[in-house]
Amino acid sequence: MPYLTDPRELGSLIGEEPSYRASQLHDWLYKTPVLTAAEMTSLPPGLRASLADRLWPFTVETEQSADAGATRKWLFRADDGMAIEAVLMGYHNRTTLCISSQAGCALACTFCATGQFGFDRHLEAGEIVAQVQYANAWLRANPIEGSPQRVTNIVFMGMGEPLANYDRVRESIRRMIDHIGMGARSITVSTVGIVPGMRRLADEPWQVGLAVSLHAADDELRSSLLPINKRYPLAEVEAAAARYFETKGRRVSIEWTMLAGVNDSVDQAAKLAPIALRLKAHVNLIAMNPTPLSVDQPSPRPVIEAFAAKLDELGVNVTIRNTRGQEIDAACGQLRVRAATANPG
Ligand code: SAH
Repeated sequence: MPYLTDPRELGSLIGEEPSYRASQLHDWLYKTPVLTAAEMTSLPPGLRASLADRLWPFTVETEQSADAGATRKWLFRADDGMAIEAVLMGYHNRTTLCISSQAGCALACTFCATGQFGFDRHLEAGEIVAQVQYANAWLRANPIEGSPQRVTNIVFMGMGEPLANYDRVRESIRRMIDHIGMGARSITVSTVGIVPGMRRLADEPWQVGLAVSLHAADDELRSSLLPINKRYPLAEVEAAAARYFETKGRRVSIEWTMLAGVNDSVDQAAKLAPIALRLKAHVNLIAMNPTPLSVDQPSPRPVIEAFAAKLDELGVNVTIRNTRGQEIDAACGQLRVRAATANPG
C-alpha cells in the first residue's frame, strides 16, 4: 500500500511504467492528495485501477461533523480491525488535525477514554501520515468555510502516546516535513511525560512543538491520575521539558485537564506556577470531557476561572481552552468511545 511504503520506494508500486510515474504518484500522494486513485488524472487508467483499493491503509468507517461543520471526526478501520481516529478543526486562520499515534494506549490515565480501553498496537508511520493526507484530500474537495483548505497544524493529541511509539512517530514527522512540506513549527507532539522520548525529540533537527500533559503539580496527586508518573516523576519531566526549551529555543506548553475537586484547587495552581515560570511555559486549561468509565467530572467554569486567575496573578501565561466536537465524542480523551462500542473485541 502506498502509505505503508516509504516514499522513496514508490517505484515498486508503478509496475512496468516508466520511472517518472513514480514522481507523479508521489505528487498525488504528498502534494495534491485526492480521495480516490481514479482522480489521479495524470496516471494511465491501468495504473489508477491497480492502485484503486490500496490507496489508503484503512477504510473510512464513520465520518461525523459538529460545530456547524467546523469539526469533523473520522473513524478509520485498518485491515486488522484496529480503529484509528482523527479530528479536523477549522479555525479562521488555521486548520488543525488531531491525529492518533497508537491504536489504544497503555498508560491508563484515569480520566482518558483511550487509556480506559487498553493498548492494541502501535500505528505505522504510513498509518499516521495517511490520517494527514486523508484530511488534506478531503479538505481539497470539501473546504471548511473561512478556514485554510489544507491542514496547517498537526497535534499528536488523538489516541495513543506518541513518545511510546518513537521511531514510527519520528518517521511520520519526517514525511510530513520532507514530503508533504509542512513546517516543523506547526507540528506539536503531546506527551504524558515519557522522559527518554522527550530527550530524543530534543535532539532531532526539527523545531517541533512539545506539549506536556502535567495535570498535577505534586507527585502524589500526579501518580494517582497518571500511573506513568511513578516511572517518570514530576522533577524528571520538568528537567526534560527544560532541556527541550534550551535545545530548541521553543517554549513547551503545559496541558492541564480540570477535574472537579481533584486538581482544580488554587493550591494546585500555586504549586504549578513555579514550574511553569521556570519553564517559561504556557499553560492550557481544559475542562475534563466526560468518559464512560471515569468517575471524574469537569470542573465548573468559575473554578477554572479562579485557577486561571491565580496563575495569572503569579505571572504565568494561561489560556482556558474551549473544547470541540464533544457531541461526537471527538473531544480530548473521548476518542475510542464509539469505536469500542462498535467493536467490543
Ligand atoms: N498521550 C498524549 C497525547 C494524547 S492525549 C498525552 O498524554 O499528552 C491529549 C490530551 O488530552 C492530553 O493532555 C490528555 O491529558 C488530555 N485528555 C485526556 N483525557 C481527557 C479528558 N477526558 N478530558 C480532557 N482532556 C483529556
